[in-house]
Amino acid sequence: MSRAGFAGPGGPGRGDSSDMVDGFGRRIEYLRISVTDKCNLRCVYCMPLEGLDWLKRDDLLSYEEIVEVVRVMAPMGLKRVRFTGGEPLVRRDLARLVGMVAEVPGIEDLSLSTNAVLLADEADALEAAGLNRVNVSLDSLRPDRVDAIARRPGSHEKIMRGLQAAEDAGFAPLKINVVLIGGRNDDEIPDFAAITRERPWHIRFIEVMPTTANLDLSRENYVSCAEALRRVRALGELEPVEGPTGNGPATYYRFPGAPGTIGVITPMSHNFCDRCNRMRLTADGQLRPCLFGDLQTDLRTPLRAGESLVPHIRETLRVKPERHHLVQGADVGSGGLVALSQTGG
Ligand code: SAM
Ligand code: SF4
Repeated sequence: MSRAGFAGPGGPGRGDSSDMVDGFGRRIEYLRISVTDKCNLRCVYCMPLEGLDWLKRDDLLSYEEIVEVVRVMAPMGLKRVRFTGGEPLVRRDLARLVGMVAEVPGIEDLSLSTNAVLLADEADALEAAGLNRVNVSLDSLRPDRVDAIARRPGSHEKIMRGLQAAEDAGFAPLKINVVLIGGRNDDEIPDFAAITRERPWHIRFIEVMPTTANLDLSRENYVSCAEALRRVRALGELEPVEGPTGNGPATYYRFPGAPGTIGVITPMSHNFCDRCNRMRLTADGQLRPCLFGDLQTDLRTPLRAGESLVPHIRETLRVKPERHHLVQGADVGSGGLVALSQTGG
């Protein structure tokens, strides 16, 4: 266990049968695996345009090493895996990793968080490899705004093709993540909500979280999910619903009879840490008990030394904090995190 400074059966320590339960009694069954810190977009709330130091190639866990971590955790209670980044599809042949993780006994659900720019070419291979679901980031319905928020011209068209490919490949439920940015997309809250009356999409509004790279934006353009729901309710009454498969931090609502739902993810206004069921593995093999804060455990060194990972995983569970300590628009509680792309948001 160390403080981050951002800038088994016979084998290397397979898990035992006791579950992964942290010091607050939360059962951990979900691992978010970041496969790269790189991205083909530069979303205004996430990555700075320049200045991030990339991990070196040798620092990245290989696909074989990632699968070994999953193999150790599965007998300890791991059931669900999500691939994230950075942009996971910029790492070559992600479908190969998906196929390898899909074969680990005990893993029941495989999902992907993506900006969808490269999804059109990969969707069928990912589905064939065993991927169940995708979450797509889409912060506006207007082409010019998508490109401006992503700071990469031409993104909108590729994302739309990626979304279509996701639907054609049968990924369901399809969740769309919308980070709320005052003055840039908050006037589209009703348009996003209206989609759920037509399509089986699960639109999730997310409150922006402060990192070193986005302090001005998170201070000046913050929109709460309470405000988003207020604007959605102007379209019609909402009923609370359980939400689609794999629901984690979101709280869901629906227009009566609508095929889709509206979810809110409120890390700032109402933290949901008491329901936290996850840990994170960074692309360089650090196991993080919380998205924020500076606690992480190096799994790469013991992994490469052929040592047991179990004590390191147990120690990470033991120190998993009760909650995050983010403060809106301030550089405290994030553990010096520059961008969520560094840990996998
Ligand atoms: N590149 C992929 C994507 O965009 O979906 C996966 C990685 S991205 C870091 C994961 C999620 O984190 C996305 O839904 C993104 O919108 C969200 N995100 C990134 N930075 C954020 C921030 N500062 N506050 C809230 N959500 C953020
Ligand atoms: Fe890239 Fe995702 Fe961050 Fe946007 S939110 S810059 S797509 S990692």
